[in-house]
Amino acid sequence: MSIYSIIDRKILIPLGDKLKDRNLHGEFAEAMRTQWLSEKDLADLQNRKLQLLVRHCYENVPYYRNIFDQRNLTPDDIRTRDDLVKLPILTKQLIKEHYDEIISKDISQRKAIDGSTGGSTGTPMRFKEDLETWNKLKGVNLRGWAWAGFNVGEKLFTLAGNSLVKKNTEGRKLFLKNLYDRLIMRNNKHDCTDITPEALRTHYDAMMKYKPAGIRGYASSLYFLAKYIEQNRLPVCQVKVVFTTGEKLHPKYRYKLQQVFRAPVFDGYGASDGGVTAHECYMHEGLHIAEEHCVLEIVDNTGNILPEGEVGHVLTTDLNNYVFPFLRYKVGDLAYIKKELCSCGRKHRLLGEVIGREGRAVYNKQGRPFSSIVIDNMMFKDLDIHTEECQRLYEKMERFQIRQDSHGDLRILIKPVDSKEPRETFDYVKDNFRIYFPDSKVDIEFVDDIPPLPSGKEDYCVSDFSVFQ
Ligand SMILES: [Zn+2]
Repeated sequence: MSIYSIIDRKILIPLGDKLKDRNLHGEFAEAMRTQWLSEKDLADLQNRKLQLLVRHCYENVPYYRNIFDQRNLTPDDIRTRDDLVKLPILTKQLIKEHYDEIISKDISQRKAIDGSTGGSTGTPMRFKEDLETWNKLKGVNLRGWAWAGFNVGEKLFTLAGNSLVKKNTEGRKLFLKNLYDRLIMRNNKHDCTDITPEALRTHYDAMMKYKPAGIRGYASSLYFLAKYIEQNRLPVCQVKVVFTTGEKLHPKYRYKLQQVFRAPVFDGYGASDGGVTAHECYMHEGLHIAEEHCVLEIVDNTGNILPEGEVGHVLTTDLNNYVFPFLRYKVGDLAYIKKELCSCGRKHRLLGEVIGREGRAVYNKQGRPFSSIVIDNMMFKDLDIHTEECQRLYEKMERFQIRQDSHGDLRILIKPVDSKEPRETFDYVKDNFRIYFPDSKVDIEFVDDIPPLPSGKEDYCVSDFSVFQ
């Protein structure tokens, strides 16, 4: 371990925790301790936390109190994760409708952060994150990095969108955030919105200048960077590890990243809404679900629990979010839990493939790819979800889906919240797409429903047009 890593872990991270009112140092240590819990101890810990959370919901969260009363349940009826089926599934739509009732009555005594998800999961949504969730997920993230042989304090180069590279921070907050990222996390972040050859060259130059030990980003963004490097026969600095997250890691992405960066790829999965996170260890047999902090269930279309090995919808219960509790929250991803545990010896169940949130891109006829991040921006005018204007827009749009045919033309399906909504409300969407797709036909269709694809997937973006890959 380098001297910087030791100083970072012993001095800088605790100092950063004090300044930012965080507990990264303590939570990382705790995550390293609980990684080796026996199956029974892990289940006991999870059940204990679940019982406390359920009691809190019953006593302090009007939305859940109603559900318990309607179903004649008391907190004693939910003692293990198998009991969760007694409660209904929490969807993004329900969160929009009951936002105020889901906020805990004792929120003023707790520490809350504003959270949001983009539209690429189908429905953009705001929520409140508990600082406890933030701390614990960050601690578990550092543990995931450690499994890959990457120590905090080593240089990291990130190429990702808004979920990892925030664009909307300003002023003093931005200055402090940059200072924290640079000095403590040593994380040099770049926005992957633009993946034109010119932008990829800029990212490449920045990476070569920074000489990171690790590279992190959305699987497709890093793949495009790797392809650019390969096509232009550029040299690559020596990195120890590549971390992918945010999207499905296609086998061809993994192969290309390993080939170009000459380093192992470690995949991760996370959703701050729902408090779930999972990381690959060095055995690469699946992603260890951080079951100390969440309960993860996989259900079919009608809400029945699926056996291990079968693909279905991911539901999570965030065991640390007391300010805005998520019980059985439908994240919007399809995945499965593996039947076997990992041969590394850790007892967390393994998430097999995460099939949702595919790293799909649509292409204009000039061959320029647009990733999910840019699509989100086009759909919502590049606005911060916490601004009033964006709130107004997303209150009007329930779901959307982009369909691109084999000729490159686009159909944008919009399911409005109110079917009588004037079509002109969404004219800006068409205008935005026309700027980037000048030679494509762009049509907007108002629809009553957006059915899943024949495969059963609920993708927001489907393209039969390919000029790049
Ligand atoms: Zn393992």
